[in-house]
Amino acid sequence: MATVNGDAEHHSLDGLSSVPAGVGAEASFELVLQATRSLLWIKTEADACAVARELVENLGGTLVSADESCGDALPLDVSFGVGQPKLPSAPPSSIARMFLERRLPGFVRDANRALELANQANRLAEDASIDLLTGLPNRRMLGRALGRIEDADAVIMIDLDYFKTVNDNFGHDAGDRVLAAFGRTLLSVVRAKDHVGRYGGEEFMVILPESSADRMLARLQAAWALAQPRPVTFSAGIAPARPNPQGALNAADRAMYRAKELGRDQCQWATEEDYQ
Ligand code: GH3
Ligand code: MG
Ligand code: MG
Repeated sequence: MATVNGDAEHHSLDGLSSVPAGVGAEASFELVLQATRSLLWIKTEADACAVARELVENLGGTLVSADESCGDALPLDVSFGVGQPKLPSAPPSSIARMFLERRLPGFVRDANRALELANQANRLAEDASIDLLTGLPNRRMLGRALGRIEDADAVIMIDLDYFKTVNDNFGHDAGDRVLAAFGRTLLSVVRAKDHVGRYGGEEFMVILPESSADRMLARLQAAWALAQPRPVTFSAGIAPARPNPQGALNAADRAMYRAKELGRDQCQWATEEDYQ
């Protein structure tokens, strides 16, 4: 943002045109307009603070932290919560001070509104990708990960056994706690580069290297035996991406249902027919 030197252009300012100006009234208005436009692009409180600092300095003031202000500061915090409170400052009766007093409160209101909207947009983006109960990526995110699956990977579908009876016997809230605990446990036994998420209901999905699938499920079983708030077992189906990455999700699902048919509380690898 350019600093406007208005010495040459001496704008008339309601009742203040006699004050020697570094910045004229119109120029100051233009500066505020530019700063307000910049608010359309901010994403964080730190961005808002940077725009405010630039505006204060362009209007001829400085930013001081609240504890080192010596009485010349305006009682208007423009830190937006980043670090210590920061106040705009300019000598009393200076034109810079007059501009700060006049222009800054409206700007700060606009900045707060811009931050509110930016945070709302962030939250919406998060809601669209994260399952709120478990904090895990949701089916939509898992779909994206499936689109990037590699040949050496495998898809694992995991479904809690007789989960309906947990709800029926202990209530829906207890069921929710079991799901949240299972999500945490699952996350604790995968590596950072594996993909894990809640596929829906009481079904979870993992994408990881095929060679670590069995070991991960063994770790999950051991960890779940210790962490489960209610005794609940799970069944799993594993399908390697090779030979048909697009068919791996379906194949893992079919293998998982076979595990159910065979008595639950177990894991089955997909066969060739599961990909057809
Ligand atoms: P199976 O071993 O064949 O998988 O039996 P199941 O009871 O787990 O399967 P079923 O599909 O009959 O029931 C799944 C249950 O999961 C029913 C549904 O109410 C419950 N469920 C799905 N999502 C949630 C949730 O977010 N919270 C709770 N508490 N329950 C859920
Ligand atoms: Mg199910
Ligand atoms: Mg189930």
